Amino acid sequence: MSQSYAPSPEFTEQANGQADLYEQAESDFEGFWAAQARERITWSKDFEETLDWSDAPFAKWFVGGELNASVNCVDRHVDAGNGDRVAIHFEGEGGDTRTITYADLQKLVAQAANALEELGVSTGDRVAIYLPMVPEAVVAMLACARLGAPHSVVFGGFSAEALHTRIADADAKLVITADGQFRRGKPSPLKAAVDAAIDHGDDESPVQTVLVVRRTEEDVRWVEGRDLWWHEVVDKQPETHEAQAFDSEHPLFILYTSGTTGKPKGIFHTTGGYLTQTAYTNAVVHDLHPESDVYWCTADIGWVTGHSYIVYGPLANGATQVLYEGTPDTPHKGRFWEIVDTYDVSILYTAPTAIRTFMKWGDDIPAKYDLSSLRVLGTVGEPINPEAWRWYREHIGGGSAPIVDTWWQTETGAIMISPLPGVTELEPGSAQKPIPGISAEILDDEGKPFTEPDKVGYLVLTKPWPSMLRGIWGDEQRYKDTYWSRFGPEYYFAGDGAKYDGEGNIWLLGRVDDVMNVSGHRLSTAEIESALVSHEAVAEAAVVGANDETTGQAVVAFVILREEAREQADEVGEGSDLVQEMRNHVAKEIGPIAKPRTIMVVSELPKTRSGKIMRRLLKDVAENREVGDVTTLADSSVMEQIQSGLQK
Ligand code: ATP
Ligand code: MG
Repeated sequence: MSQSYAPSPEFTEQANGQADLYEQAESDFEGFWAAQARERITWSKDFEETLDWSDAPFAKWFVGGELNASVNCVDRHVDAGNGDRVAIHFEGEGGDTRTITYADLQKLVAQAANALEELGVSTGDRVAIYLPMVPEAVVAMLACARLGAPHSVVFGGFSAEALHTRIADADAKLVITADGQFRRGKPSPLKAAVDAAIDHGDDESPVQTVLVVRRTEEDVRWVEGRDLWWHEVVDKQPETHEAQAFDSEHPLFILYTSGTTGKPKGIFHTTGGYLTQTAYTNAVVHDLHPESDVYWCTADIGWVTGHSYIVYGPLANGATQVLYEGTPDTPHKGRFWEIVDTYDVSILYTAPTAIRTFMKWGDDIPAKYDLSSLRVLGTVGEPINPEAWRWYREHIGGGSAPIVDTWWQTETGAIMISPLPGVTELEPGSAQKPIPGISAEILDDEGKPFTEPDKVGYLVLTKPWPSMLRGIWGDEQRYKDTYWSRFGPEYYFAGDGAKYDGEGNIWLLGRVDDVMNVSGHRLSTAEIESALVSHEAVAEAAVVGANDETTGQAVVAFVILREEAREQADEVGEGSDLVQEMRNHVAKEIGPIAKPRTIMVVSELPKTRSGKIMRRLLKDVAENREVGDVTTLADSSVMEQIQSGLQK
């Protein structure tokens, strides 16, 4: 039995999320969500019906209600007398800063909305946003929301090709971009990718206008009549904008999934339900107290965590937050902790991949900073290995901050499975329980729910939820096929493997496609990875199942060593003592069946821009195939590094 961690009475006392929420949601599901919607969101017209599920799996939430998402995130805080509260502490990679209050934000959003209107954007038009992590990204999203023009944000790290397909898929008529972005101390171009995406040979681009934010001041190619500078068009606009209220089900945005498992899907979300659940979860899971907290979500705006937990949830709640443009190691490896120290960040939400990287860099780096302001820590994106969880709590959370391990997806729009920090006794490595208002089950191969511990099954959601996707953009059938057919129309199939422990906690075990079958035993990538990470030499691990003539599949592991271990080990090849020791360690932690056939020590792992390991590419390597689609990789040279390293 591993050690679990109960909340302190002081934390529980002040927590937004109390134990009675579970009972309330259980006894009156719709009443519970209706109350959340009315308490947390300002409606211009109240809704008549909480949920219409008659056309399942196409849900309508808060039917008949009208609201404006941008007014909810900005104007109403100013109206309530909080115009002087800081909304955004912007920290540029090069150290430039901007402080933006809610009153400032209101003016910026109004001007941007006026500018977009002048450029012919009207309700229902799609706008593509391809920006770095600068305040204009937030402003642009809110300006689109204000006009009821769904945005489609594309990662600043994606290629022209990826941008082209996303612009075409959403049929966007306007693109908001920047001349360039700062990455590891150097400017790199962005606008050039937009030019290439629009000039893409085969078809005529829907894009009529490109609005360009000046950030790096590098030269850019300019197309007269199409390209306009943001500062020339936006800055001259009036500082007020009369917003219209939209139907609760009005489309808010389209966002493509990370592409970890294949071709990204254009997930589309609507307004009332999405805003309700993002605001609710940010309040009860992150325990945000807008009057006193400084909140920081380190995600990029280009993935769903940036949408829900930088823009819509925290701003709907009136949070003060940090927005950081750069990477964690620029100009030095203590940058995150320096930011926490400087702004007295009290809530930090980041990804397991970042935590494992910090572990790899060493304990002495965060130790140099005062992190005592931190009172809640969160993670999202992948399962967090128990070892990394404990390191996070100890070295970042001062040994006492609760950690919320939050499971959710682009499709779910908001947090679904997570502890409540004032209620749940925390179990490192497990996302634990559906939050109040959410229902999940684990199904076996026959589609039957079970609760017996340690059996591997499929995670499903059993009730609709307010922030659920309303479809895949332009492809109703794919929506039904992907999520609502595997186990019949009453179960949303999440695509993730899961199991219960003896306490009824849910453990996420990685993608269903990644669950391995070794000599008839089902093994999860996540568990073997956690076993490897619990070895003192290992910072990070990725495991895949490779075809094997004798066992069906064999466990193949790719590991990154911690800095000290790398310095000490003189040999890390297949036959080395260290590799043998790691194999035995897995056998001891899980059982001999899980012992990796092969362990390869590498210096990098292939990851998406959102920091997730792309196991399918490693599987290609392990099975000696040409590697598949790498367009959503953060660094496309990683695969070459791994392959050339292996040939040595
Ligand atoms: P694609 O669907 O294109 O393959 P993706 O699933 O990586 O991409 P996202 O929507 O960004 O795109 O990621 C959601 C997935 O991330 C979940 O299905 C799950 O596999 C994983 N995930 C997120 N949070 C957690 C968590 N706390 N614990 C375990 N897994 C998590
Ligand atoms: Mg997915």
